[in-house]
Amino acid sequence: MKTMRAAVIEGPHKITLQEVPYPTPGPGQVVVKVEACGICGTDYHILEGDFLSPYPLIPGHEFSGTVYELGEGVENWQVGERVAVDPSVYCGECYYCLSNQGNMCQKWNAVGVTLNGAFAEYVAVPAKNLYRLPENMNFQQGAFVEPLSCVVYAMRRLNIRFGDKVLLFGAGPMGLLLLQAVVKGGASEAVVVDLAEDKLAKARQLGAHKTFLGTAGLQEAYPLGFDIVIDATGVPAVIENMFRFAGNRAKIMQFGCAPKDAKVSVSPFDIYNKDWEILGTMALLFTFHPAVNLLKNGVVVADPLTTREISLDEFPAYLSQPKDSKDLKVLVCPWKK
Ligand SMILES: [Zn+2]
Ligand SMILES: [Zn+2]
Repeated sequence: MKTMRAAVIEGPHKITLQEVPYPTPGPGQVVVKVEACGICGTDYHILEGDFLSPYPLIPGHEFSGTVYELGEGVENWQVGERVAVDPSVYCGECYYCLSNQGNMCQKWNAVGVTLNGAFAEYVAVPAKNLYRLPENMNFQQGAFVEPLSCVVYAMRRLNIRFGDKVLLFGAGPMGLLLLQAVVKGGASEAVVVDLAEDKLAKARQLGAHKTFLGTAGLQEAYPLGFDIVIDATGVPAVIENMFRFAGNRAKIMQFGCAPKDAKVSVSPFDIYNKDWEILGTMALLFTFHPAVNLLKNGVVVADPLTTREISLDEFPAYLSQPKDSKDLKVLVCPWKK
């Protein structure tokens, strides 16, 4: 039997590198040879056991690679083509799928979240989920198409008004992608809050007009608050605090993924009295094409966000440690020696 190396989460807090069966492609599927797969906050949630995932699971949903084997009935693709992969797997038949809301699919699945993913040498995916990488895009950049696709979806939900003042909590890789989109999307002032000065320096480099190390002085500097306030941390204490900075008529977006059972308190009187809009943004919805273009044309850049590339062997130990606060995006390159 043909096998491959893969990182397997067997249950909460239990991840090991294993030799597992090679994923033979089913009808309509292709096997992608994984070249780069980004580590995401969601992977930590899956390891913690506070997400929607079944176990055992091979995680990894932000990836690029080459087409390696075609399943029955797959046309339009050739072995060796360079691709990024939309991890979303919608049933196509439920109420939400038939209402153009596949990300709300009642049988929602995603490669690397509920189906085996790309922290492995190979992964089987539906052929219709493949997107060709432009010639000028390397695999490392290709691994950013998925997270950027989530940013595109968030931006469409947000519907930013030209000239809005935007406050963003969290200068991690997602926050820094979103920051670039917000600046290019018409923010007249983009302010970023984080607890790490090196991340704030990167935020300024990527277009933030002002940064704050924590929230001290923020209210004094912006007494009328912001038109848009976004959480890109997923940390309940940060989320609860962000409402203080929302101005009248503000849009408040929960972009970061908080633990499933977390609760925060917010004043319903303020929501009413200040005309607030509170928005969620669930992953992505057919936003891969714009994400590929944004990267291809340098509208959004990914290279400054990668702080490390590690091998598959190093990955289980890396994910088991508390996240190194110096790291932004860490890429797993399965064929790296
Ligand atoms: Zn992700
Ligand atoms: Zn569905």
